[in-house]
Parts: sequence; structure tokens; C-alpha cells
Amino acid sequence: MKPSVSDDNIPSSRLEVLNSHFSSVPAMASEKEAALAAVPSDSPTIFDKIINKEIPSTVVYEDDKVLAFRDIAAQAPTHILIIPKVKDGLTGLSKAEERHCEILGYLLYTAKRVAKQEGLDDGFRIVINDGPKGCQSVYHIHVHLLGGRQMNWPPG
Ligand code: AMP
Repeated sequence: MKPSVSDDNIPSSRLEVLNSHFSSVPAMASEKEAALAAVPSDSPTIFDKIINKEIPSTVVYEDDKVLAFRDIAAQAPTHILIIPKVKDGLTGLSKAEERHCEILGYLLYTAKRVAKQEGLDDGFRIVINDGPKGCQSVYHIHVHLLGGRQMNWPPG
């Protein structure tokens, strides 16, 4: 599904989105390179701007704890990101501590609720990329919910 954003310069591929995050370095040749160029950090990310409604996104679910919105470079007919509104040090799953158990569970529960809302009754996939080798590009933990097509295994 195509995201609906009002920007005239809508990136057409995930690579373009990733490149747009790293405008200070030359355009990168692959998504892997882009993810490798992302510096793991606890600094604010583009997702803070989405949470604060400073940039547009297509929100499909929201409550006081989490926000779910369509990925701007969808890899499947349904591709939604579920994020905590308060990062609390959770730049990625590898930074999880015991105090995060509740929000981690809630992110997964929200993914299940959104999958139902989206009609993904025949199945879906949950992905959490972590770190450079996991191809993570945005350092604010997020759950990818992918569905609407047959998934393959092994993943790339
Ligand atoms: P990851 O590579 O696991 O860190 O995933 C980051 C995801 O954020 C990618 O799938 C991007 O397409 C997505 N993304 C980046 N910027 C935006 C945005 N402004 N709106 C929606 N999705 C975005």
C-alpha cells in the first residue's frame, strides 16, 4: 500500500529514505551500506518528529504508549511500524533491560491488534532489525508488521 504524505519529494524506495537520513554523507549504493552508515545513538530520530506530528505520517493506531504508522517505503502491501512514544533508552532491542518488558510486550500486542485491524487473518510477519548487521537504520526501537503477500524464508 502506498503511503500518503503531502511532501512533493516523496522517496520512492527504501534506499532513498535511508539516504535522506544521512544527507551529510554521499548517496549510498545499497540499503546495507545505508544501515551500516547509521550511527547507533540515543539522539532524537525522525520517529520523534512523527510522534510530535512535525512531519506527516499515516497513523493507523495510536494510544498513550505507542504509535503505529505506515512505512514510507513499504516492502509489502501492508507495512506498518509500531513504536513506543517514549524511547527510554530503547534505541534497539539489544538495549532492552528488565524495565522494558512491559512496553516490549505491548509493542507486540499492538502489532497483533493492528494485524487484525488490517485484515491480515492468513498471517503476517514481525521484524525487529537490530544494529548494523541487522540492517537497522533508525535508532528508536520499532516493530515492522508486514503482510498482504506470501512471505519467504530464509529472510535476506
Ligand atoms: P529499520 O531499517 O529497521 O531501522 O527501519 C526503519 C524504517 O523506517 C524503514 O523501513 C523506513 O522505510 C522507515 N521510515 C523512515 N522514515 C520514515 C518516515 N518518515 N515515515 C515512515 N517510515 C519511515
